[in-house]
Amino acid sequence: MRIEKVEAIPVSYPEPNDFNALRHLCLVKITTDEGAVGWGESITQFTEANFATKAIVEGMAEEALGKDPVNNDAIWRSLKDRAWWYGYEGGIASYAISAIDMALWDLKGQALGVSVCELLGGPVHERLPAIASSHAHHASIPKMAEEAAGWLSTGLQGMKVGFGKRGDAHLGYDHDRDVAYVKAMRETIGDDKMLMIDLGIKIQWDVATAVRRVQAFDEYGIDWIEEPLGAWDPEGYATLRAKTKTLIAYGEKEWTLQGFERVLATGTCDVVGVDPGRAEGITGFKKVTDRVEAYRRQANAHAWSSAICSAASLAITFSSSACKLFEFKPLENPMQHELVDVPFAHQDGWVYPPVDRPGLGISVRDEVVDRYRSERVLSQ
Ligand SMILES: [Mg+2]
Repeated sequence: MRIEKVEAIPVSYPEPNDFNALRHLCLVKITTDEGAVGWGESITQFTEANFATKAIVEGMAEEALGKDPVNNDAIWRSLKDRAWWYGYEGGIASYAISAIDMALWDLKGQALGVSVCELLGGPVHERLPAIASSHAHHASIPKMAEEAAGWLSTGLQGMKVGFGKRGDAHLGYDHDRDVAYVKAMRETIGDDKMLMIDLGIKIQWDVATAVRRVQAFDEYGIDWIEEPLGAWDPEGYATLRAKTKTLIAYGEKEWTLQGFERVLATGTCDVVGVDPGRAEGITGFKKVTDRVEAYRRQANAHAWSSAICSAASLAITFSSSACKLFEFKPLENPMQHELVDVPFAHQDGWVYPPVDRPGLGISVRDEVVDRYRSERVLSQ
């Protein structure tokens, strides 16, 4: 089997879980001489990053054309080597590597007739709890509690909520409101459900604010606080960790194993967030989970984007003892629910190993890709 064609396809779509904000992804479709098709994705988020990634994928395609996708690790290394100048320590090159790598794993699994999860060594969990990951949509705390109860009514075993997001929720800005919110959520969902808080880029807590807020949240047993001091603040995180009980999660803005290794070495990160559409694909993510296991910490897939990225995240999640749960978006979105023939879903709050179909186990609908294909370089 030889790689015949590498296509980079920028798409844009409204995300109902984020107030229908326009989201941008660069998909990669790789076709072989035998007609097999593999799909990958990079979570580029912004239109300029999307088209920059397209250009890099098209250049990097030279490293893949004519090669056998079964030798995906050798191709991944050649992509890394190619980006020696413009991709050192990550950036747009890592998006391109991510999407190409995912598509290669998909093809490799199809060629060998096994799932990506099995290629990674097979599932180490029988099943994992599924949680809702979303943004709160209301100004009133009782209404947000009602909304959360709705998410969990499907059997989901917990919820992670973004602070500092669009809309009227206004979470993350005021101590008393935040504590009242957490108290109300805990009372609504009960003590046996997971509750995580994820600080968005708009929230800029200083260390003292983070300590005071998390100490107050400690009383309500939240399961982790995500990025309370952003992507990188080793001293701040050390202080926060010494003064609070809640697990600290960050890492999702890292690109490479070296970046994640730096985070782990601080000893301040309990839950390492990783997105395979950013952290150099399934190959990159797997290298990170191996290190997270060695540090005896938790890894968590950031899978906000398309079903392609969810398929990759799920395969890795089930192959690693460092991963303990899987996140689902409570509202349906086009890149999850229209893009593939069988959208990912939990069953009564559980998710099961993705081993029933070869490769990533998804069948991507070309007509849906075409519907959301983005032709503009800049949007107004
Ligand atoms: Mg996050």
